[in-house]
Amino acid sequence: MTDDVASALARNARLAWLASDANPDVAQRDAYRVLVRRIAGPAAAYPSIATQARGLAGSLASWFRAGCPITPSAERARRRAICTGCPEFDAQARRCRVCGCFGAAKPWLGTATCPRGRWDPTSEETS
Ligand code: SF4
Repeated sequence: MTDDVASALARNARLAWLASDANPDVAQRDAYRVLVRRIAGPAAAYPSIATQARGLAGSLASWFRAGCPITPSAERARRRAICTGCPEFDAQARRCRVCGCFGAAKPWLGTATCPRGRWDPTSEETS
C-alpha cells in the first residue's frame, strides 16, 4: 500500500475497513480500493528503480534456472484477465504498481508469480 492510499484510509475508518482484507466481499473490496486510489489523487508510484531491477533480476534468474518455461496460452489469458481487473494494475501504463512489471510480458514467464498471490488458482481473488 502506498503512502497516499494509506493516508486516505487513515482519514476514514469505514472506508479503510471496506477496502481492507477484512472485507469478505472481494468485488466490493476491490471497488473501494479503486475509489480510495481516486481519492488519494495521482496514480500511486511504482517501486524504486533499484527494487524493480532486483525483482526483474530475480525473476529472470528463476526463469533461466527452470529452463525458460513459457506459460501456456490459456494460463497467460487467465493471468492477463486477473491483472486487468486488479486494483494494482495501472491501465494507462499497462503495468503492475506493486512490482512494476509490464502486464504484456510478465504472464509469459512460466515461473512468474503475482506479488499479491492473485494468480494462485486457490486464491479467492481468482474465483
Ligand atoms: S501481478 Fe498481481 S498485483 Fe500485479 S497487477 Fe497483476 S494481479 Fe495485480
